[in-house]
Amino acid sequence: MTANIKLLGDTTKVEKGYIVKGKSARVGHEYYIICPKCGENIVFKPEKEGGMVVRCTKCAQKVAVKTKLPVVKQDVKTDTVDESEKAKEHKGTVRISDSGFKNGELHWKARMLGCPLIPKSYRLRTDRINTIGRQDSSCPSDVSLQDDYVSRQSVTIEVVRQEVGFQFKMKVVNASNPVFLNGSRQSIGETVYLQDNDTIRMGRSVLTFKLSK
Ligand SMILES: [Zn+2]
Repeated sequence: MTANIKLLGDTTKVEKGYIVKGKSARVGHEYYIICPKCGENIVFKPEKEGGMVVRCTKCAQKVAVKTKLPVVKQDVKTDTVDESEKAKEHKGTVRISDSGFKNGELHWKARMLGCPLIPKSYRLRTDRINTIGRQDSSCPSDVSLQDDYVSRQSVTIEVVRQEVGFQFKMKVVNASNPVFLNGSRQSIGETVYLQDNDTIRMGRSVLTFKLSK
């Protein structure tokens, strides 16, 4: 028996004999079960869906196995990509704004003690690196957030001029408090190019990146 054959599951006694409970074997795949009578490994490979009876080569004990068709592999990218995979893809994306030289803006709702949330926005500057962080006069950021769960000068966004538009290069520089882009945690030093409607979550604050209209 080769090492990569999978154990299908435990056998259990029923009225008419033994079955493998709960699990089904996929057609065309090789499995083994442990003979409930003598402990021998019984290797088998189902050929059609529905079910089959496997017989122990040592003691001839029969065990019923449910079988089903194998999973048809779809395009992996659309089928099994989860949010973190999407984010990885996102990181590698160097997308230039297809809307010409539109600049970018950040939108968020500011928290002030005892007040309702106040909508705020900031237009990213092209002449320098923009910073986002906790409000602190000794260590100021362009976007100052009154949020104790945000690090000082935590994130930078650099507007990079390219032939056909701007790129918005975001980098986490200080993340004693975690920073998430579209739900995916960013590590320090990682560079991501922002796209329209991306959300940056830091502390209790959520900022949305938008291309200027
Ligand atoms: Zn046996």
